[in-house]
Amino acid sequence: MENNTYDIVIVGAGPAGMTAAIYAIRANMSVLMLDRLSPGGQMINTNEVENYTGTGKLSGAELAIKMFEHTQELGVAFDYKTVTGIADNGPLKTITCEEDDTVYQARAVILATGTVPRRLGVPGEDSWAGSGISWCAICDGAQYRDKEVVVIGGGNSAVEESIYLAGITTRLTVVTLFDLTADPKACDLLRRFDNVTIYPYQEVLEFTGTDRLTGVRFKSTKEDATERYVECDGVFEYIGFEASSQAFARLGILDRTGCIKVDSHMRTSVPGIYGAGDITVKHLRQIVTACSDGAVAANSAAVYVESIK
Ligand SMILES: Cc1cc2nc3c(=O)[nH]c(=O)nc-3n(C[C@H](O)[C@H](O)[C@H](O)COP(=O)(O)OP(=O)(O)OC[C@H]3O[C@@H](n4cnc5c(N)ncnc54)[C@H](O)[C@@H]3O)c2cc1C
Repeated sequence: MENNTYDIVIVGAGPAGMTAAIYAIRANMSVLMLDRLSPGGQMINTNEVENYTGTGKLSGAELAIKMFEHTQELGVAFDYKTVTGIADNGPLKTITCEEDDTVYQARAVILATGTVPRRLGVPGEDSWAGSGISWCAICDGAQYRDKEVVVIGGGNSAVEESIYLAGITTRLTVVTLFDLTADPKACDLLRRFDNVTIYPYQEVLEFTGTDRLTGVRFKSTKEDATERYVECDGVFEYIGFEASSQAFARLGILDRTGCIKVDSHMRTSVPGIYGAGDITVKHLRQIVTACSDGAVAANSAAVYVESIK
């Protein structure tokens, strides 16, 4: 659109942002969707999605491509941009980006920037991050075929990715601060692998190695505080996520964990600014709930834009 002004700018092209884009453009809004990376968000790093209604089993990357193609068929504008700030100037918001001096203007903004993996912050983590320690089994798992791997964490992501890794590695050790907390069905499946050992109630102390990662030292959080050391070729960490919301801190719409506070219409406390998906304060962070948020946010934003036009 001329002079970079849109009815609705959507920041983030994961399932929340892409669904918002579909609903917004079908409401006759001019729409721009921005993402610092390829469209798809966390779906790109997901081996298999088995719980998105109506699709059966398919890879996260396939679902991401289908969603993006849907936005493109409808004519949604997309650009690779890292958003660094949103200013609320009343009826027109301004959006600034890291890559260049382009300033976008929008009557409404939908923030759908999701989360990034949390890190343990223990010795050795920085040294081996990206060359031994990974946060994405679907991206890096193949490097560890027929090798020994440790997974840190016990939630849904940890267990789902462990099931994938158990199928390609010779030995998989799961080290988790509590017990497994993922879906019981997935936990049962993981426990059935002969090559999997699970150590619950453990605190990771350090990652060891000199010229490559060689193992993980951890200790029981129970009274005995027994220390253990497991040799491995690679580590995958799944210990939760942090909200990608630093760029929006000045709007005063975040809770103390950095998530965006929204009402049931996905409105923030700033008129014309909406949140959707994992970035919002919510209980269930999944593709289907992100899509639902995106649809609601776009509908609310379109009603708002019509009201101020
Ligand atoms: C390993 C793993 C497995 C999973 N498996 C499943 C599953 O089987 N089923 C399921 O339903 N869910 C699964 N999930 C959860 C699901 O992927 C998320 O709930 C969902 O992707 C959230 O969508 P979102 O659009 O809110 O955010 P995201 O998917 O995180 O997308 C956010 C987008 O915003 C972009 N962004 C961030 N900051 C900026 C910025 N400043 N400027 C521009 N762009 C920015 C990011 O690059 C990203 O593309 C899994 C997650 C993981 C990590």
